[in-house]
Amino acid sequence: MKYILAVNPWIYDFAAYDFWMKPLGLLYLVGMLKESGLDVVLVDFLNRNHPCMPKKIKNSIYGKGHFLREAVETPAPLRQIPINRRFARYGVPPEELRRDLPQEPPTLILVTSTMTYWYVGVKESIEFLKDVYPEIPIVLGGIYPTLCFEHAKENIKADYILKGFAPESLEELIYRHTSIRPELKKYKRFNNWPAPTIEDLSSPTYGVITTSLGCPYRCPYCASYILHPNFETKSPEKIVKEIQKMSTIGAKDIAFYDDALLYNRTHTKDILKGIIEAKIDVRFHTPNAMHARFIDEETAALMKAAGFVSIYLGLETSDFSRQKSLGGKVFSGEFTRAVKYLKKTGLTEISAYILVGLPGQTPDEVKTTMEFCYENGVRPYLSEFSPIPKTPMWKLAVKTYNWHEPVDPLWHNNTLMPIFSPTFTPEIYYQLKRLQKKIVEKQSP
Ligand code: SF4
Repeated sequence: MKYILAVNPWIYDFAAYDFWMKPLGLLYLVGMLKESGLDVVLVDFLNRNHPCMPKKIKNSIYGKGHFLREAVETPAPLRQIPINRRFARYGVPPEELRRDLPQEPPTLILVTSTMTYWYVGVKESIEFLKDVYPEIPIVLGGIYPTLCFEHAKENIKADYILKGFAPESLEELIYRHTSIRPELKKYKRFNNWPAPTIEDLSSPTYGVITTSLGCPYRCPYCASYILHPNFETKSPEKIVKEIQKMSTIGAKDIAFYDDALLYNRTHTKDILKGIIEAKIDVRFHTPNAMHARFIDEETAALMKAAGFVSIYLGLETSDFSRQKSLGGKVFSGEFTRAVKYLKKTGLTEISAYILVGLPGQTPDEVKTTMEFCYENGVRPYLSEFSPIPKTPMWKLAVKTYNWHEPVDPLWHNNTLMPIFSPTFTPEIYYQLKRLQKKIVEKQSP
């Protein structure tokens, strides 16, 4: 049997939590390869439904929950950093995976990646796969090599490393190793992409989907436009069908991964109307932050009727001059109006992401933003700034943190922000976290 092995690697970090976290890009790619007639076996090293998961690991609501965790040695680039937390591997232990992996070697292995500072998980996973299948070529793709290509080339023992979505290169590679040409060029347009193959994950209780790629905004701390330079949508009919299919195979919850879910309001409204018409019974969540600016009264009502439950809005700050300097994706008045419309429908689980630790930001600004959320009846959700290479804010972060390039990607980790930031010391950061907790407790019914 000739098949391709697609792998979602381990995470190595101080903390990791399954906040509706699935390898969406890899699931789309598996769909494309299958549509092209290839056999693909997907192995999820993060699988939370693996039989080795102890019962005592508490699962949270809506499909979220903890990964299996095993403490590991702290990698060298982090050893001089004064942080009182253990580094760990998250996911299924190697000895379990060794039993699960097919005995017959694949013809090619594809490994995905996400956060730049999770490269240790990618490196370890690839070394493990090389040990199991020493003769089989491995291709690394995903966000990490797209943003840190040179680092990946120097540090990862993959046979091929791809930047961004590279259908031509991948098509050639697959042809070279399988003698089957998968016609990936036809997927250059997002509207032609198949559904993400969540059925290849073990007992998925939740699904993930995106209705669009990219974002027309250019917030200086965000890599969306580097990963997807153009904003593209998929037809509402296709999206509704994909959601319907996920619900049929057991997904009770679905998370939207869009960077700009409401940007094309007509498109989103058509999807919402389609879901309502098809009477699809799932709960929807928006962990990737929605654009408050585009929530009007009708959209809010449609969201509620379609089954939206947890709403995460991208606020970042309530400070007017910083809102402007960050590109003006939302102003406070627009945020307040959006929340009013959402609440009017009866939606209650509304949170707002607040950036903490941006170069030039003060703790008072973060505190005022949390109070602004409280006044609006919205849960503040602190999101620590993580510097991303190639973004406009990268150079400023390097200067503010007094770093000297090249910087190891492990230092991009948002957990380290209070250590590197000259303004948000660990003590100040924990004060802000305590305030956040107090506000959320006060807001709890
Ligand atoms: S609006 Fe969101 S996704 Fe778009 S550039 Fe800004 S942070 Fe990135």
